[in-house]
Amino acid sequence: MVKDKIMDYIMATEYDSVPTLYIDMDGVMIDSTRVIVDCYNEDFNRCMSPHMIQTWGFKELKYAPEGYIYDIFKSQRFFDKVKFFDGCVEFLKGWNYLGHRCFIVTMGHPINLALKEEFTKEHVPFCYFIGVDTNKYKSKGHIKMSGENSFYIDDLAKNLRECVCENKIAFGVKKPWNETWNGDWVKDFKAVEKYFEKRGLM
Ligand SMILES: [Mg+2]
Repeated sequence: MVKDKIMDYIMATEYDSVPTLYIDMDGVMIDSTRVIVDCYNEDFNRCMSPHMIQTWGFKELKYAPEGYIYDIFKSQRFFDKVKFFDGCVEFLKGWNYLGHRCFIVTMGHPINLALKEEFTKEHVPFCYFIGVDTNKYKSKGHIKMSGENSFYIDDLAKNLRECVCENKIAFGVKKPWNETWNGDWVKDFKAVEKYFEKRGLM
């Protein structure tokens, strides 16, 4: 509760003057799909590849019993394996160096969120962490992302649509869960940097 209040205060401070990035974690900062597919291949002796995943619920992993993927997301094993997408940490370090702010906004089960927070504190400690508990919220729509210098990057078109933010950007390669997005798009962190360079923010 106290933590929520502190976060509200930080978010309300200097809203309009400081360039602020709200960034999703799974599928934007970290390659979660690769970890899920790796674990599945190990556990079920398969040889699936991440690019074969075309459904949001990993339906292609047909030998996985119910709850399997959910459990992987909640495991230390996930965080031992997971890697940042190329250029992500370097970009965030640069963003922070320039005095801009970054809030990681990610959804998950409370255990997944606790592990994510620990992971981000280790690797990108200068970013604020906002974990959205999926037991309580169905979207990130309640997170305030106001201010004309605010940017929100997510790989799920539904999340982008449900949030209010001046600048919304889809991330990654086209997949069924984002192909309906017709706003700004960056495919990787080189493109993210270019996007902000164009706006004089990097
Ligand atoms: Mg995501």
